[in-house]
Amino acid sequence: MIDVTKIRKDFPILKREVNGKPLVYLDNAATSQTPQQVIDVIVDYYQNYNANIHRGVHALSQEATDKYEVARQKIQKHFNAKNSYEIIFTSGTTHSINIVANGFTTLLEKGDEILVSAMEHHSNIVPWQMLAERTGAVLKVIPMNLEGELKMDVYAELLSNKTKLVFCNHISNALGTINPIEIIIDKAHAVGAAVLIDGAQAAPHVKADMQKLDVDFYTASAHKMCGPTGEGMLYGKEEWLNKLPPYQGGGEMIAEVTFEKTTYADLPHKFEAGTPNICGGIAFGAALDYMNAIGFEAIAAYEHELLEYATQELLKIEGLKIYGTAKNKTSVISFKIEGLHPYDIGSILDKLGVAVRTGHHCAQPIMDFYKIPGTVRASFSFYNTMDEVDALVAAVVRAKGMLE
Ligand SMILES: *Cc1c(COP(=O)(O)O)cnc(C)c1O
Repeated sequence: MIDVTKIRKDFPILKREVNGKPLVYLDNAATSQTPQQVIDVIVDYYQNYNANIHRGVHALSQEATDKYEVARQKIQKHFNAKNSYEIIFTSGTTHSINIVANGFTTLLEKGDEILVSAMEHHSNIVPWQMLAERTGAVLKVIPMNLEGELKMDVYAELLSNKTKLVFCNHISNALGTINPIEIIIDKAHAVGAAVLIDGAQAAPHVKADMQKLDVDFYTASAHKMCGPTGEGMLYGKEEWLNKLPPYQGGGEMIAEVTFEKTTYADLPHKFEAGTPNICGGIAFGAALDYMNAIGFEAIAAYEHELLEYATQELLKIEGLKIYGTAKNKTSVISFKIEGLHPYDIGSILDKLGVAVRTGHHCAQPIMDFYKIPGTVRASFSFYNTMDEVDALVAAVVRAKGMLE
């Protein structure tokens, strides 16, 4: 069980006011808030042992290196990767995906096929389009139904021995749909294709097990799970990471450099050129500690209650339609009110202290599919309350009254 009153005390930002009203933060799918426990780790780093890692013989450098590598092991353990060197520190999911998309440039041939789902974030579309352009590979789309669920029968038909890669998000940031990634991965493997699962939106809600899923690549962003921005991870199976060429050249990622030839460092350093976000990596580890102490099962159960209650209450508003009604979904509600522009609703909600996202949520193809310009999106985290759901609903009713 979640003790939300106690949890909220960990988040200093939740005490602030916006436009003279208590902040109701419901933009968690864009970025989560940061608990004091993680803020303390960030401050401790800069106050006490800020140093570059892996190079210095001096005490601070060794301390920073140790803590950074301990954080990598925490991430390994959390995602149950077989080896810690299969966890690559990145600046976030976008960076993680680009490492893989770039790496496959030399592994694809003209006419190879890559499949992407219809409900992807732009960061899981554009890098693959660029890859297709570079290689002559063909990008095909796994369609979805009106509820916002992937058409798995069409997916099965699209797969063939030409399919080399499949990309799909674990959970859609725009609709909240939890995709059946176990089946997606198994079916892709049956035709010899590799699978990348974009876990940016899933990692804050469910604990994904890399070995059990047998997934080839998985990504996460720290800032969506109580950690800092500019930090994330790429999980890759050892054999794939060994096959992929490095993404960036620079310091840290080399074994030996001469002007004739450079040899690359072993994993994970091959993909970690330059000075990384050291503090960010350590804080990412602290964020996982924080969330695991609460427990992912408790988090998921509580967020589900918030979702059910908010769905029920919002649907009482006349003319309100929810986009993304999959049976299996997380605490994201995308909605539109007939005749009203999402942006106008969002602006009034802000005046009332309620922070939501409006627009296409970096998933324009989804909005095109529904033939709408965008939605208002309220996304809930384990530190939100039922009272905040009531505040959202009251604010939407008020906005509707003002705009009609
Ligand atoms: C947020 C998000 C991304 C992008 O993550 P960044 O941290 O901005 O790189 C990609 N995919 C999904 C599903 C997301 O929710």
